Order: sequence, then structure tokens, then C-alpha cells
Amino acid sequence: MRIAFFFLAAAGMLHAQTASTLAVDPTVKAALDAAQRNEAHFIDEQIRVCEIPAPPFKEEVRAREFERLFQQAGLKDVRIDKAGNVIGVRPGLSAHPNLLFQAHLDTVFPEGTDVKVKRNGLILAAPGIADDCRGLAVMLSVIRALDEAKVQTPGTITFVADTGEEGLGDLRGTKELFNVTLKGQIDKFVSVDGTGLRITNIGVGSYRYRATFKGPGGHSFGAFGLGNPIQAMGRAIAKIDEFEVPTTPKTTFNVGRVGGGTSVNSIPFEGWMEVDMRSSDKDSLETVHAKYKKAVQQAVDEENKRWKGRGPVTVDNALVGYRPAGSTSADSAIVKTAVEVSKLFAENPPLGESSTDANVPMNLGIPAITIGGGGGGTANHSLDETFDTKDSYLGTQRALLLAVALAR
Ligand SMILES: [Zn+2]
Repeated sequence: MRIAFFFLAAAGMLHAQTASTLAVDPTVKAALDAAQRNEAHFIDEQIRVCEIPAPPFKEEVRAREFERLFQQAGLKDVRIDKAGNVIGVRPGLSAHPNLLFQAHLDTVFPEGTDVKVKRNGLILAAPGIADDCRGLAVMLSVIRALDEAKVQTPGTITFVADTGEEGLGDLRGTKELFNVTLKGQIDKFVSVDGTGLRITNIGVGSYRYRATFKGPGGHSFGAFGLGNPIQAMGRAIAKIDEFEVPTTPKTTFNVGRVGGGTSVNSIPFEGWMEVDMRSSDKDSLETVHAKYKKAVQQAVDEENKRWKGRGPVTVDNALVGYRPAGSTSADSAIVKTAVEVSKLFAENPPLGESSTDANVPMNLGIPAITIGGGGGGTANHSLDETFDTKDSYLGTQRALLLAVALAR
């Protein structure tokens, strides 16, 4: 009882502390020291984890290793959910606030990619070594440091190695966490992704479509008079090109790829296009999305009217990607805390926008940010990806101190 009372009192006191006073709290200081001391070990772990392939939609082997690591680290309620996310809980004095702290398992690299890590002095080179094996290693190091220093947080930290962050993965792991597995249970969110000491507080959302225009097709001379799927698509592209979008918040659209047709002397039976729309602002993204859907339907209607319904042309407008947009205000408690904590490790920790797992909680109005895992890096998402270990322990310490500051 006395111990519990002491912790509660300490928790109350700590709540009012700033990041710098928190950093010199003896227990927290011991954890920060542990993080520095253990950095070389967790760089080895970063390499080992990176050499377990985790191609898009095929993260299971790496996930099973994280299940083992979470169990070994003493996390509670370790499990893998339906989307393949590995979850482990570090209970605090109470269940809330519940901080979700995560890094993503998946890479952009297809099966068969050589993921052997090459070490040249301070530089590590391998596909995925920075994005996001760095985040995964930082997460493991944070768990170890909290454990070694016996840090008792007032709130709970739920650690997750998640799936589907990259490309057509479409944040499917994090969507599953917030919509199903941990629905209604998470109060704050931090993901560690890539390198450096940046803080991402704006989540760029996107819609991606593949629209396939279809008709019976026929001879260009003999069957002339039928609606033409490619000409219908041309009408749609012309309309899309006329969209007016805000520059702030930056909102964009792009017809990126087109294809179809049989030959120069055939009315095509099919034409297709791939379209990408983005914005960090929910409403602006929905507005351009609505315009796009209307433009495609109008183009088909006009084409059919032009050819008096002969054909006729139809469209299959398939959504192939959706990442929700959102942001966490620079004035919010979580961003202020992140900036304050980061200032202990870097002069001007930059705030920025990106598309990361944090998009999902941001869109739901849950305080969320993504942070870099420290160190440096080049050529993300390429076979020449590198990670620079110089002073990388600072990134681990920053993530650790932030986790402690937010789990209260
Ligand atoms: Zn990443």
C-alpha cells in the first residue's frame, strides 16, 4: 500500500514536470543511461531483424520473431491479431492513459530481395535497414530500458509491431488496431519510423483509383458509331485536369498511368487509368475525391449521349488505395511534449507532414505523431538504403523519454 501510495504521489508530481526535469528523475535517468549502454546491442538487433524478410503482405515470419521478443521482454498479453500486428502490453499504475507505441514490420521490397546487411564502419546498408528496422530496434530498446530501470509509468504503454504501413498495404495493420483490435482503448499514439529526430504531426491522406472504361468494341470503320471507352476516358481526364484545388493545405491530383485498346483500327473494348489524390486536410481530400467520382460518371454519360447510347460505355471505378488524412495541432499537448523532449537532443526538431501509420489515429481525432528513430539514413525504399549509426542512441533516448512523458 505504501509503495502504491508513493508511486501515485510521484506520478502526480511528475505530471507537472517538464521534459528536462523528467530527464533527471533518477529512475528515468537510469533508463536513459541503459538506452545508451544498450545501443550497440540493439544495432545488432536492427541488423538481425532486417535480415528476416518482410515483403508487402508477407510479414508473418518477422511478426513471429517479434511475438517471441515481446514475450521474452516480459510484456503482457502478447498476441498477433487478424491483420498480423504483434501486440504486447506494459501495464502502468492504471489502464489509462494508454499510449500506443509502434513501429512497422513491413518493407516495400518484394520476396526474394537480398536483405543481407553490409557494414562499413558506422554505416549499415540493406533494403529496409532504416525504414523501418530502425523503428523496430528503437522499440525493443525502449522496452528493455524501461524494464532495466524498473520505470513505473502512471499510464499503460501498448507496444505494437504493425503490418501494412507501406504502399498498397494502405495502413491496414493500424486500421485494424483502431477499428477492431484496440478499438476505443487508445488515448495517444507514437510511431517510430525511419531516421533522424523529426516529428510528423500532419498526415497526408490519399485516394487511389483504377478506373476501367468498357464497351463492346469493334472495327474502327465497320462498327463506327459505337461509344468509345478510351474517348470516354479522355473526357474524364480533361475534366480532372480542370480541378481547382487549394495550395494550402496542399491538395493534389494526378492521372499517373493509362492503358488499353486493341489496335489503331479497332474501337477499343477497354481503356483504364490510375489516379492519385492527396491532401493533409480531410475536407479538401473529400472534395477532390467527390469531384473525381463525378467527373468519371459525367464523362461516361457524355460519351453515351454523344453516340446515342450505342455501345454503350460503362465504367468500373475501383478504389485501390485509401489513407485517411488528419493532423495533430502544433499547439496540442502531445506535439508540445514531443518538441520539448526533442529539444534535449536536437536544437530545432523539425515538424513536418508525411503519410504514416499516425494518419489513422489523426483522422479519428486521437493525439498522434510519428517520430524518427535517430541516426541518419539515405536512399529509403531503394536497394541502396543505408543507416548511419553515428550518435543513433540519441534517437533511442528521445523515443524513450517521450514514451515516459506521454504515459501519464
Ligand atoms: Zn516507414
